Amino acid sequence: MEIIEINHGIAHRIRDKIFINSAIKGYDKNLYDALILHETMHSGMISFKDFAMEFGNEQLTGLKKKYYKFILTHPSSWSEFSPVWFSNGELQLNSALLIFYIVAILLGVVILKWI
Ligand SMILES: [Zn+2]
Repeated sequence: MEIIEINHGIAHRIRDKIFINSAIKGYDKNLYDALILHETMHSGMISFKDFAMEFGNEQLTGLKKKYYKFILTHPSSWSEFSPVWFSNGELQLNSALLIFYIVAILLGVVILKWI
C-alpha cells in the first residue's frame, strides 16, 4: 500500500493508494494512524462494505471530535467532498464518491417527481 501525503482533503483510498492530508500528522498522530487504518480496511474498489464502513467508522472511535474539529479548522480538507481533483498533475477520480452523488441526485429527482 502506497501512502501519498497531499496538501488537501482528509484521507481516502483509490485502488492501492492512500491519499492523506499531510496536515493531519502534525495535528494529531492518533487521528492520522486511525485514518490510515480505516483506509487500509477499505477494498480500494466500490462495494457495499466500503459504503457501510463510512457509517460505523469504528476506527475513529474516541477521535470523532478531533476529526470534525480538523475539518472545521482546515478549509484545505473540504476538497474531500469533491469526487474529482488534481494531484501531481494527474486527474484523480474518487469513483465511490462520484457514485454516491449520482445516486443522491437520482433519488432527489425521483422524490421531486413524486411530490
Ligand atoms: Zn472510508
